Amino acid sequence: MIKFLDLNSQYLSIKSDIDAAIKNVIEKSAYIGGEFVEQFERDFAKYIGVDHCVGVGNGTDAIEIALEALHLPSGSEVIVPANSFIASSEAVSRMGHKVVFADVSPETYTLDLVDVERKITSATRAVIAVHLYGHPCDLSGLQHLAKKYDLLIIEDCAQAHGAKYGGQRVGAIGDVATFSFYPGKNLGAYGDGGAITTNDKNLATTCRMIANHGRVAKYNHEFEGRNSRLDGLQASILMAKLPHLEAWVAKRNELAGQYVLNLEGLEGIILPIVSVNCYHAFHLFVIRTRLRDSLSSYLNDHGVQTGVHYPIALPCLKAYEGRYLPEQTPFSASTSGQLLSLPIGEHLTFSDVKKVSDLIRDFMSAA
Ligand SMILES: *Cc1c(COP(=O)(O)O)cnc(C)c1O
Repeated sequence: MIKFLDLNSQYLSIKSDIDAAIKNVIEKSAYIGGEFVEQFERDFAKYIGVDHCVGVGNGTDAIEIALEALHLPSGSEVIVPANSFIASSEAVSRMGHKVVFADVSPETYTLDLVDVERKITSATRAVIAVHLYGHPCDLSGLQHLAKKYDLLIIEDCAQAHGAKYGGQRVGAIGDVATFSFYPGKNLGAYGDGGAITTNDKNLATTCRMIANHGRVAKYNHEFEGRNSRLDGLQASILMAKLPHLEAWVAKRNELAGQYVLNLEGLEGIILPIVSVNCYHAFHLFVIRTRLRDSLSSYLNDHGVQTGVHYPIALPCLKAYEGRYLPEQTPFSASTSGQLLSLPIGEHLTFSDVKKVSDLIRDFMSAA
């Protein structure tokens, strides 16, 4: 069986560090706040290359809190890519803003800036730049638009821990950035977790206060916030994993390179590409084929697990029924039935990739 995700094999590879990290937190009863959370926030800020990191409860809260801290005027429109996980748009609606979907590029599956510019109105205040599958958005193009139309950039880095744009890590480039440490992400906790990164000290303080009941000191609440905190156990586990992230992402890149070598030129299969100036985090290795459903069953029948990200484009979800037309984001709306995520991750070997690739070649030549 070639697994899509294997959290247990990762645990076994660093078991003694993880066990010690968990024991340490329990012995010190540092469950909420405290030294492990503070140390992880420092480590992660340093890794990303920003001045501030604020741990929060999960990646969805991270987007909501970042948006709240930006104090956008009511009635603001926020541009969100039509192909993403619902958290990217959900957070915008929950903060009382209007979601405007822009299409994604057929090459990188990240925001198509021509469509972004088309969707900008006088009410547009921000863009959620999702580095989907681990491929960085065209951040310099986006910065150009942001400057021209006075927009804020929120990077959604939930799938892109370790990715780089122009030599800089994603999460250090927009006005503010958000991360998820959901267990299956490139850097995953053993439960929910998230973070906000920024170079803006005031923004970081506001985020920290929102996430902790509007306070800095114990009962000194300056406004009504909420409870969304990264806990000590998760922080300690993440700290034990962080030193391995670089190698894990490098392994993902090597495996992706092998897939490309094995599958290049195969008719009927569109492979992912890496834009110039970008270091892909390959959270997902997504191919496109009209034979998606039959290929995924074939692979499954031969012991290969696959995934689909995402089976329904955001504007086409029931959650948004009657609010958007598929024609407004045609690429996302029409290709969701063709996307297939192949297994990738540090649990795989080159021979696993060879086996998956051979199966795909066999399937396509028989099709
Ligand atoms: C996983 C994910 C999120 C949400 O993270 P949670 O920690 O599960 O709340 C947000 N955006 C994208 C693109 C994601 O993949």
